[in-house]
Amino acid sequence: KAPFIFSNFNGTSGDVDVLTHEAGHAFAGYTTRDFEFSANAQPTMESCECHSMSMEFFAWKWLDLFYGDDTDRAKYMHLESALIFIPYGCMVDHFQHIVYDNPDLTPAERHEEWLKLEKLYRPYMQFGDVEFYASGRGWQRQLHIYHYPFYYIDYCLAQTVSLEFWSRSQKDWADAWERYYKFVCEGGKKTFVGLCETADIRIPFEDGALKDIAGTAADWLK
Ligand SMILES: [Zn+2]
Repeated sequence: KAPFIFSNFNGTSGDVDVLTHEAGHAFAGYTTRDFEFSANAQPTMESCECHSMSMEFFAWKWLDLFYGDDTDRAKYMHLESALIFIPYGCMVDHFQHIVYDNPDLTPAERHEEWLKLEKLYRPYMQFGDVEFYASGRGWQRQLHIYHYPFYYIDYCLAQTVSLEFWSRSQKDWADAWERYYKFVCEGGKKTFVGLCETADIRIPFEDGALKDIAGTAADWLK
């Protein structure tokens, strides 16, 4: 009943990302392996991604074993990419709402809507003369928009939870881990909100949920 992680390595930081991410899923699978009802073992998708994305941050404690002198740079990249993912993920979800509410949009109108969202969520992006992105076609490279309606926001919820665990781990690693372990031990017996309550962490739907996290992260990145 030991979990196995299947992954490919290519000598980039992606190797570490995959290994630590999948270790979170593997740990959750291992922790709930003896549940009487297997249907209870796995929570909904956003909570599963909390297991994995948070484990990526708990692994910071051992990141020097992978990166040596480059550890700080790797942490910086990891935290930064986690933060800038959130507005992008929200943008994908928002775009899906627009296209499902307005099925008659022409291709050109869809590109226009995407560009409006770019200005709203990522005003700092400059596409210059990269025609594909500058013309609003960027949404086309996001597979989920074609295949999985309204699923993408799950990653934003999970990223927010993972950043909360990260933020707590900066202050008190053992306490953060204990909360995470409680979250994992419930498997799928509770809803996403119920799991957050079990771990006694902020629920991402609440106003201001990002504020503390963003503050801790901004301080760290300085
Ligand atoms: Zn995952």
